[in-house]
Amino acid sequence: MKKTVLLLPGDGIGPEIVDEAEKVLEWLHRYCGVELVLERGLIGGAAYDATGTPLPDETLTLARRADAILLGAVGGPKWEPLDYAVRPERGLLGIRKQLDLYCNLRPAKVFPQLVDASTLKPDIVSGIDIMVVRELTADIYFGEPRGVTVLADGRQRGVNTLTYTSDEIERVARSAFEVARRRRRQVCSVDKANVLEATELWRNVVTQIQQQHYPDIQLSHMYVDNAAMQLIRAPKQFDVILTTNMFGDILSDEASMLTGSIGMLPSASLGQHHALYEPIHGSAPDIAGRGLANPLATILSVAMMFRYSLDRPDIADRIERAVNRVLDQGLRTADIAQAGLHKIGTVAMGDAVVAELE
Ligand code: NAD
Repeated sequence: MKKTVLLLPGDGIGPEIVDEAEKVLEWLHRYCGVELVLERGLIGGAAYDATGTPLPDETLTLARRADAILLGAVGGPKWEPLDYAVRPERGLLGIRKQLDLYCNLRPAKVFPQLVDASTLKPDIVSGIDIMVVRELTADIYFGEPRGVTVLADGRQRGVNTLTYTSDEIERVARSAFEVARRRRRQVCSVDKANVLEATELWRNVVTQIQQQHYPDIQLSHMYVDNAAMQLIRAPKQFDVILTTNMFGDILSDEASMLTGSIGMLPSASLGQHHALYEPIHGSAPDIAGRGLANPLATILSVAMMFRYSLDRPDIADRIERAVNRVLDQGLRTADIAQAGLHKIGTVAMGDAVVAELE
């Protein structure tokens, strides 16, 4: 069946890395019997420059009818002076909210070839395979009231509100348990239930869903401060980490650094009807336009797309095997370069993956 994939390159290195992912998609279309229609849209600073808004209606229309979306990255110094409402990053937050992409999957997996790229000792990181499941559309980033007010005595008061409803917790908990069923069947739910009522509700709902619907999954609970520590102390104890929007924001970046390079890590943001895939890194303005960016996080995001949206786990495996073989050959972009290995640029890395797909 024909599947439509919307490409949203965005800003900075976004267009360079999405071009390499597109090569992979085109190869799969041509040689793997996957009928793909590739469309392109504008988002972020590129969209602002062309249309005056970081998320044009036309992009949303294309996104709503696509089977999956692949995004590069948004943002850069050029747009920093702009008002918050039209900053490139608003395009990304906007598309997540508009498509109700409530479940963010961020795998942190260490490629054996890159064990030495981590700042932690090899025996701590080798073999890490964690999936962080982060709630993405609620919590303190969206709760009301919010803002800064001036009090009667002239002091200023800043407010943000941490809110969760039981249905918002339930749906992301179900996603995490489903993901765990395809892995080692362990979920560690991270909260701060000892001091925050909203996350006590989180703990109760997660427990209830597990007891009623997922008795085959082993569920544990951990306070966020301990989780931050355990991720560095003994990361291999984790299979799936399920957590709130803000805790997930922080813990998933921490988990990503266990693996060595930000240029290697993909992500998926899933809703009931839509899905968006993107590397976890930003637009890397410092290296944009120089052919230095590592396209592997974006190519691995394509693998996630085949696993979670296009129902072809076999192709996901194939892409991941190709990336593994490229690393085995000693090919490295600058961010993962090691002495004695062959340093290559963005386009050569994309070509190497395509060659290994065969
Ligand atoms: P960044 O992730 O863009 O870059 C951090 C560092 O990692 C830089 O040194 C960069 O060169 C390097 N890096 C990132 N991706 C790489 C890759 N694929 N290959 C090689 N090296 C890579 O984060 P930042 O510098 O904090 O932010 C830059 C811009 O990106 C900002 O405007 C920020 O708002 C935006 N941003 C966007 C997203 C997104 O689109 N999802 C995420 C984070 C930041």
